Amino acid sequence: MKKTVFITGASRGIGRAAALCFAKNDFGVAICYNKNLAAANEVLAEITALGGNAAVFKADVSNMAEISAAVQGAKKTFGTIDVLINNAGIAQQKVFSDITEEDWDNMFDINVKGMFNCCKCTLDDMIDKKCGKIINISSIWGIAGASCEVHYSAAKAAVIGFTKALAKELAPSGICVNCVAPGVIKTDMLASFDECALAALSEETPLGRLGTPEDIANVLLFLASDKADFITGQVISPNGGFVI
Ligand code: NAP
Repeated sequence: MKKTVFITGASRGIGRAAALCFAKNDFGVAICYNKNLAAANEVLAEITALGGNAAVFKADVSNMAEISAAVQGAKKTFGTIDVLINNAGIAQQKVFSDITEEDWDNMFDINVKGMFNCCKCTLDDMIDKKCGKIINISSIWGIAGASCEVHYSAAKAAVIGFTKALAKELAPSGICVNCVAPGVIKTDMLASFDECALAALSEETPLGRLGTPEDIANVLLFLASDKADFITGQVISPNGGFVI
């Protein structure tokens, strides 16, 4: 085992693909999930079958106490956390006038405060070691803005601002902080889109297809590697040309 990665939202979608990809590349993987223990255990079983090293931790990212316990558990299991991937997130499609205060708070609690909580709980060790990588997952909509997703777009734009500011603050401590802003990726997050809408999104993408979770996992692996040691504060957007 080379290094350890802590991935939130690793039970499904992009986080799951990242967990498998990092495990195949000799990382110890802390699989953090919230509600879906069965899916998290499937990821664990797949990694174990590959001969990899992983463990499952439950935490709602918006809850500081739960995240703190999960991070402590991962440190106990693996010794340290070298890479943090703040991937857990939710999306919602609603016209602005229908977005409630509760929708707004929930969107920011999970997508933004979740990232804050996870950084708070993992940073001290990285600062002590003077190395580490933090990768936050935003979205093309955090860059370009999406109609009927004002709260999601605003939260994902906040992820970008957070990344840039923290990157400047932590660079002297040898820690790289970057952001990945995926385009449209075929995961459960698109469950509310019918086949017709998905086909339209594919057509709108210059490369002519939707992204896969593996497309994003490969970028995450690169950013976590020492090949990316001179990259910090950047927003990398694997999106098939959807937003250029
Ligand atoms: P997904 O398939 O819906 O999976 C979401 C993951 O987040 C699940 O593992 C879920 O865990 C976890 N999660 C949700 N709420 C949580 C909470 N409160 N605490 C901890 N974990 C929580 O989503 P995805 O498409 O892989 O998206 C992953 C990230 O990429 C998100 O940040 C999303 O905004 C971003 N993104 C996705 C797309 C896309 O087109 N799919 C595009 C751009 C950006 P449980 O199942 O265990 O509850």
